[in-house]
Amino acid sequence: MSDVKDDIESTGGGDAGDGGHGGTWLLTWLILAGLLIGCGVGEALFRAYDGQVPAGITGGFEFVGNTFFMSLLKMVLVPLVASSVIVGVSSIGDPSQLGKVGGCTLAYYFTTMAMAVILGVALVSMIQPGDPHRDGAGIGKEIINKGEEAYASESQDTRKHIEKTGEGGLVGAFKNIAQQLIPSNPIGSAAEGQLLPVISFSLLLGVVLTAIGDAGKPLLRVFESLFTAIMKLVDWILWLAPIGVLALVAWTVARIGINSLFGPMLLYVITVLAGLAIHAFIVLPLILWLFVRSNPYVFMHQMRAALMTALGTDSSSATLPVTIESAETEGGCSKRAANFVLPLGATINMDGTALYEAVAVVFLFQCYGIELTGVQLAIIVITATLAAIGAAGIPSAGLVTMVIVVQAVNGSLGADAPHLPLAAVGIILGIDRILDMCRTTVNVWGDAVGAKIITRIAPDEITDQAAGGPLSAMTSPE
Ligand code: ASP
Repeated sequence: MSDVKDDIESTGGGDAGDGGHGGTWLLTWLILAGLLIGCGVGEALFRAYDGQVPAGITGGFEFVGNTFFMSLLKMVLVPLVASSVIVGVSSIGDPSQLGKVGGCTLAYYFTTMAMAVILGVALVSMIQPGDPHRDGAGIGKEIINKGEEAYASESQDTRKHIEKTGEGGLVGAFKNIAQQLIPSNPIGSAAEGQLLPVISFSLLLGVVLTAIGDAGKPLLRVFESLFTAIMKLVDWILWLAPIGVLALVAWTVARIGINSLFGPMLLYVITVLAGLAIHAFIVLPLILWLFVRSNPYVFMHQMRAALMTALGTDSSSATLPVTIESAETEGGCSKRAANFVLPLGATINMDGTALYEAVAVVFLFQCYGIELTGVQLAIIVITATLAAIGAAGIPSAGLVTMVIVVQAVNGSLGADAPHLPLAAVGIILGIDRILDMCRTTVNVWGDAVGAKIITRIAPDEITDQAAGGPLSAMTSPE
């Protein structure tokens, strides 16, 4: 227990950026107000215009939310990820310690994602939200037709992208991850904003810079300085979060309307939300408590700025700067753990997405009356985990990689058996954005819990001594 106190003290004990406690609280309330006002404004507009809000109004919200706020967050992403991973890895230093941290991090990611998928499959099989025969409230032919029409009305590019993603099935899911892990041109990947290739290159560079000793120190100092500068920039950008999330949420709700969550899709929505809630409020806190023995809900509260930003932006990548900021200042995570675990987590650890993909796929098969056997459910558990790993931390990525799971299940059905058409995705397309807000929040929460657990293995002070302290300056509270 005292170790936890040490962790908190070693990181400066909860002072976020310039503003300290007062600033953090003000920002928290402002972001919360932004979320609520955005929701209210969006719904009021949706009702006032009967669901047909003029493009000029939604375009205005999109400009403020996406073009302005999201772009600012994305602007710092590549330099932040590169410097954070290089500094994190090199500060762990000792290769055996690095192996231990890396192994535990990956084990945590896979275990929690698999748990989320299994929870999703269990819930959707129990609740049967897609049962076409349910009295009065089943998913009827009309909803299926509407969904298929919605899919057909998507642009050809979108449909092509979805179809191509699903082509490879299970092998495709592996290929998708492998291609990102070994970049042939890391600078090219960075220019395209692809984070996983940047992470794997930075990881290797961090290891090499430590291995070459004194020769690597000048470059390490550069990345250390870059990281500090970017984090200061994040502090400033964060003050725009209230207005950014207000615009983003208003944009989403004005186009969809809160009512779309009710009606025939209600049971599906309840299944997804119940799964996410159980995972976020029971499973992950239990895991955190088992490893860290401190109150997980206090940590959840300390991560509030990141969780609310995730809810507003639908993107774990765009939220990453805030996640690192919250974890290292208020959350009491060591810089060594957070710098390494959070960027990797934002790109591959997606508990919410994994759970969502499993629920959505089983739901769609239920809608079409296609019975799934135990083997097919097992295929869903494996492919949904892999598809979530391969999904980028951007809005709606999970909806696209979900077709990998659909095609893997289709491939396991006999040639004569009915298959699920890809157009079925149209059924859940309309409400995806709102569910995306919730699953992204769980994705970010899963990353934060991972960083807190790994802090036990790689606390700042101890690793500093073990590694000979090449970056010892980083341990001193700012
Ligand atoms: N939007 C999610 C994220 O950024 C990915 C998804 O679509 O599930 O974490």
